[in-house]
Amino acid sequence: MGLMSGKRGIVFGVANEMSIAWGIAQQLKEHGAEMAFTYLNGSLEKRVRPLAEQLGSSIILPCDVSKDEDIEAVFEELRKEWGSIDFVVHAVAFADREDLKRPFSQTSRDGFKLAMDISAYSLVAVTRCAIPLMNEGGSVLTLTYLGAQRAVPNYNVMGVAKAALEASVRYLASELGEQQIRVNAISAGPIRTLAASGIANFRTKIKLMDDFAPLRRTVTQEEVGKSATYLLSDLASGVTGEVHYVDAGFSTVVSA
Ligand code: NAD
Repeated sequence: MGLMSGKRGIVFGVANEMSIAWGIAQQLKEHGAEMAFTYLNGSLEKRVRPLAEQLGSSIILPCDVSKDEDIEAVFEELRKEWGSIDFVVHAVAFADREDLKRPFSQTSRDGFKLAMDISAYSLVAVTRCAIPLMNEGGSVLTLTYLGAQRAVPNYNVMGVAKAALEASVRYLASELGEQQIRVNAISAGPIRTLAASGIANFRTKIKLMDDFAPLRRTVTQEEVGKSATYLLSDLASGVTGEVHYVDAGFSTVVSA
């Protein structure tokens, strides 16, 4: 029996085989989970569908998380197919590249709203639709970064959005605990992905990990996937509202 045997859930945020969501999905599958997947648009569908099918998934749906009707349609489909779910993985974020390149004080109003909408509010919208399907409790997991807690160079508006995301985790956990729905975040160390390519000087972040993180390296998608499996499984049945660091210990040290 795997840790996730008999559990069904949905994964938002696979774009390609480098995605953290893909690292999570592979681990969940190894531990026996059954999963549905979403993709943002037609061009990503071509990448996501074969990956999802590789893990035996037959529920592969379009979803732009900035659209309530897309999110509602996804959960309606899950209701029809499965009736209930046990977990949600939210590994979605977006900010305009132009806003990420500018000094933080130059962030545009529209860019601020966009980053907040897709990277923070979407967790609230997705969780709201998941609640009626989690009638026997459940677990929701999102992905954050140290830039929510500290001013990390070049992370800018995304750091502010991640701070809102982490606060949303706490408020959702507080509200949904009575229903035995747990809500947690993993704060991952820097990993080369499509989303990371939008952050200027990303290479410097990896170098800092090699020099100063206690483990003297950054982490892998697989390592994030292993902690995600713990948080989504019954092993973490007493854990909610937490930001769990999977960053080779970087957040615990001061680099001088
Ligand atoms: P990624 O590019 O593989 O994944 C980001 C996903 O967000 C993509 O699948 C993309 O399609 C999706 N997305 C963007 N806008 C969307 C929208 N409107 N609707 C639906 N989906 C949308 O990159 P990743 O690094 O795997 O990112 C996954 C999560 O991990 C993000 O929340 C990111 O901030 C977080 N994270 C990444 C790192 C890192 O260093 N890569 C570190 C910590 C946290």
